[in-house]
Amino acid sequence: MSNSTPSSESNTKVDTLAEATINHPDFEAVIGLEVHAQLQTQTKAFAPVASEYGEAPNTQLTPLCLGHPGTLPQVNEELIHYTVKMGLATGCEIARRSIFARKNYFYPDLPKGYQISQYETPICFGGELEITLPTYKKRIGLTRIHMEEDSGKSLHDQDPYHSLIDLNRAGSSLIEIVSEPDIRTPQEAYAYLTRIRQIVQYLDICDGNMEEGSLRCDANVSVRPRGREAFGTRTELKNMNSFRNVEKAIQYEIDRQIALIQQGGEVVQETLLWDPNTLTTRSMRSKEEAHDYRYFPEPDLPPVVLDEAWLESVKIALPELPDVRRARFIEQYSLGLDDAVTLTDQRALADFFEALVEASGDAKVSSAMILSNVLRVLNERGWSIGQFPVGVELLAQLIGLKQDAKVNSSAQTTLFMELVDRHVNHEGGKADGAAGTAAQTDVEAIAKELDLIQVSDDSAIETFVDQVLAQHSDEVERYKEGKTALMGFFVGQVMKVSRGQANPELAKTYLLKKLDQ
Ligand code: ADP
Ligand code: MG
Repeated sequence: MSNSTPSSESNTKVDTLAEATINHPDFEAVIGLEVHAQLQTQTKAFAPVASEYGEAPNTQLTPLCLGHPGTLPQVNEELIHYTVKMGLATGCEIARRSIFARKNYFYPDLPKGYQISQYETPICFGGELEITLPTYKKRIGLTRIHMEEDSGKSLHDQDPYHSLIDLNRAGSSLIEIVSEPDIRTPQEAYAYLTRIRQIVQYLDICDGNMEEGSLRCDANVSVRPRGREAFGTRTELKNMNSFRNVEKAIQYEIDRQIALIQQGGEVVQETLLWDPNTLTTRSMRSKEEAHDYRYFPEPDLPPVVLDEAWLESVKIALPELPDVRRARFIEQYSLGLDDAVTLTDQRALADFFEALVEASGDAKVSSAMILSNVLRVLNERGWSIGQFPVGVELLAQLIGLKQDAKVNSSAQTTLFMELVDRHVNHEGGKADGAAGTAAQTDVEAIAKELDLIQVSDDSAIETFVDQVLAQHSDEVERYKEGKTALMGFFVGQVMKVSRGQANPELAKTYLLKKLDQ
């Protein structure tokens, strides 16, 4: 059960929490994460109906989703395909034969009374992921990745007297990725989740949006005295709906357990709910054991048997993964490591960069444009790259204008912001992304309209230069006596009298020519 309500509300907050420090000298935490990723399959896991986020409640259903007697599940081939992609991308073994199992429990958002999942024979097992922290890298083992179906949603905040049920999500495709208890700090847990999100996005199997619930994480946390090998008793944390909340909840739980032990208490194995408002956890139920679920092989579905040739074809078709792409960016585009890391962090950004290189023909300038201008705007406005409203064709035109010396760099920045503002969808305050924008614009026309075209015409520049030199005879004198650092001042004056439109390179050439006479 991944989304239920508390049955008891005993508050587990410990008074000494405030004193607990982030680094406990005597204790070490042990953390294992169970991540559920909602797969972007066209239809649900075992029923031929779509399941889209945000549709009207109870409109995406078949009798099977409602658990009607006589209905039979049929496995969605995409579910198997996407799970195997994830397994291959994380170095898992792929089971040539695996079976589905029924996990039995009673809850209103689960009309069948059981969830189809996998138990003894998961389809993927024994992989690993590399995570990157500011000062070190580390490998985290993956115990297993298995296929299952999602539950519906209980809505407790829509009606004052009743809980409502939306079954649109019931039966949609999920994978559960279970880590080994290899994680030691909340920061490692955060890095691990970021890595999972990056990989599912690169594989194009899940949008990775934790706020909308397409990635969900349960955290198992225990502590032990440093140096001891045996694990302590763990608790399981649920209900964290952002990466930062996972980090905070784990930190809170580590501190709570250590304080409890130091006060002579004992950690009880239980499931805890994170409350993002009070930044504390509270007990939800005592932890269920596997035998409580009465797992048994799903009689309505045949075993999943994978064909070698099919497996090979999935392997061959795997997209380029982040590490390989980063190395290629460094090699092919002569990028520095940090820039390559940033540009490949999200697949959509890496795609945008490569499209811009293609359109502009210049990798160096394209990376500068994205790193300094595009990312700044995304940050300031809280947009994802998919919401960035200006297409690469326009950005390439903008790059071309600068390369052809038609605008200088400050005019280029002004034009960049102008393009963003002209293409934003003002209704919701958010952009629709480049795909949904209005007709292409001619960037040079906008530059003309805003009087940003650089003056590169020799006689005009010469006039500006003469004017500046005549107005600043003292500085000219000092320059000639050897104070050549004044060149910057003269160029600045030319920019000023030309109202920013002079080509500074050309201005400098003329200044040198006249001053050195
Ligand atoms: P369940 O399915 O009952 O939640 P599992 O044995 O599948 O239990 O373990 C779930 C997660 O808990 C795994 O990620 C595992 O690494 C982690 N885990 C197991 N023991 C501990 C422990 N003592 N401390 C922290 N995490 C643990
Ligand atoms: Mg669990």
